[in-house]
Amino acid sequence: MKRIYAGLHTFHKSYFREEREFFQRIAGKQTPSVFFVTCADSRVDPNLVTQSRPGELFIVRNVGNIIPPYTEIKDKNSVAAAMEFAVLELKVDDIIVCGHSNCGAMQSLHRGTDRLANMPHLKEWLQLAGPVLKAVESVCRGLPEEECLKAAEQANILYQLENIQTYPFVREALERGTLHIHGWYYDIGSGEVFSYSPEDQMFSINLSKVK
Ligand SMILES: [Zn+2]
Repeated sequence: MKRIYAGLHTFHKSYFREEREFFQRIAGKQTPSVFFVTCADSRVDPNLVTQSRPGELFIVRNVGNIIPPYTEIKDKNSVAAAMEFAVLELKVDDIIVCGHSNCGAMQSLHRGTDRLANMPHLKEWLQLAGPVLKAVESVCRGLPEEECLKAAEQANILYQLENIQTYPFVREALERGTLHIHGWYYDIGSGEVFSYSPEDQMFSINLSKVK
């Protein structure tokens, strides 16, 4: 924790002091235009990767960047709550679902959630992405585990984009054209972000090279 406390001090002493006006400007209200869903993985930093400032991204992070399907909402669902607020109140223009390389959540799913007997909440949560395994089953045959994992990470992003569209208020905004959804894949090792191209049916658009 020592480093974290030192960080708070440094932030307030240098960055905040220099940007005081900016923080005062945003202190009363947030007006983000993007709802950003990504993994809880400590190596994924949406603001750093997109070089965005506080107030620009409304972010939800969870294990495996999963959006439970509308029919799976039981009594409490923090992702659905955040999505309602982002779409209906903040009226964001875009939703980005950003998965990433070497995702532990997809690894656990791929290796079998039975191994998570001592972590029942994690097991149940990851099972929400269960259909991903079926989607990559044929692709994975004969592939080294690393490539199969990448296929699962990318299929998971597409599955979550499908899940988003099971929410009536999201579907309505998409149909009105006031909302757009994007699937991104962040490669931690190369620092690049790839966007899914529906035409190519692949994550073929290297956003880090597009100006
Ligand atoms: Zn992850």
